[in-house]
Amino acid sequence: MNAPSSDLGEFDLIRRYFQQHEAQRDAIQLAQRGVVLGIGDDAAVLRLPRGTDLVAAVDTLVAGRHFPLATAARSVGYRALAVNLSDLAAMGATPAWATLALTMPTADARWLQEFSAGLFDIAQQHGVTLVGGDTTRGPLTVSVQILGSVPRGAALRRDGAKAGDLLAVSGTLGDSGAGLKFVSAAPSGGDRGDARAAAVDELIRRFDYPIPRVQMGLAARYIASAAMDISDGLAGDLPKLAAASGLHAHVDVDRLPLSPALRATVSEVQAREWALVAGDDYELLLAASRANYPKLEAAARQLNLTLTIIGELSSGSGVSWSADGVDYTPATSGFDHFG
Ligand code: ADP
Ligand code: MG
Repeated sequence: MNAPSSDLGEFDLIRRYFQQHEAQRDAIQLAQRGVVLGIGDDAAVLRLPRGTDLVAAVDTLVAGRHFPLATAARSVGYRALAVNLSDLAAMGATPAWATLALTMPTADARWLQEFSAGLFDIAQQHGVTLVGGDTTRGPLTVSVQILGSVPRGAALRRDGAKAGDLLAVSGTLGDSGAGLKFVSAAPSGGDRGDARAAAVDELIRRFDYPIPRVQMGLAARYIASAAMDISDGLAGDLPKLAAASGLHAHVDVDRLPLSPALRATVSEVQAREWALVAGDDYELLLAASRANYPKLEAAARQLNLTLTIIGELSSGSGVSWSADGVDYTPATSGFDHFG
């Protein structure tokens, strides 16, 4: 292959990095995934499986706002789709298609190569086909729209929880937000070799390459009563689920799942606080009746995913927290762009 030129035309770059990417070329694969017409026409034509509802979400990443300016292009491509997959996971939907609106200051071939490698890496992991997009010049901004489906009526929503339901979260909280704080503080990493530096690297990796809990979302269909993904921190997101369901939520902060990497890096108090407010977790927050919870736990175990009960829902409104048996107030209430 010829060395790519450093400033490509719009159509060349769409063809080279998106339309004709090897991950996109398998026509049979495309037909199986309901792509009647993909990249290249004015719009894509997509066919939903019979008896399903279309599930759609869009999330934008702005350079310097959602990720540090120095973030590797591969991570930017990966994250842009990962955060959208997380939204579909929270709905219990099977992801199928994505569109990409890419705004960038220059068409840098090396950057695009890495960006599309990251994007198609996670696209392939989840069977997602890129079916269209838009490419414009401007400050680096990546908008991905994702489309998928659920059996008719089966979407997991925020408003389905009942009084008495248990609240649980997947994985661990605070890692990714901690990683972002570390990368912002010391972009070049620390001393190589010591255990703390390895833990910091792991946290940064959790930020750069989030793991959307798509399989868990699918497994939670018909079992969980409500679900959402945690993107703005539990303290910011749980009130949304409680409000949508018209309930009060109580969380025992001592129960928040904290990773060994996070514990190895900061104090227990700091780890707990970041687990509540640092954001960018992309774990699932699930509500389930006590009768259904064991089924949810069994499903998680099959996926090698930890699921931790953190609290419960009751009649009323708002959210309360306790730690060490006494009331607890998170320092801040999660991320809000206009807060
Ligand atoms: P139009 O002017 O009709 O909107 P464009 O010239 O913008 O079409 O795009 C040509 C084709 O390439 C369309 O099918 C569009 O969906 C696709 N496309 C453009 N940019 C991207 C991108 N970044 N990723 C994937 N597909 C893209
Ligand atoms: Mg266009």
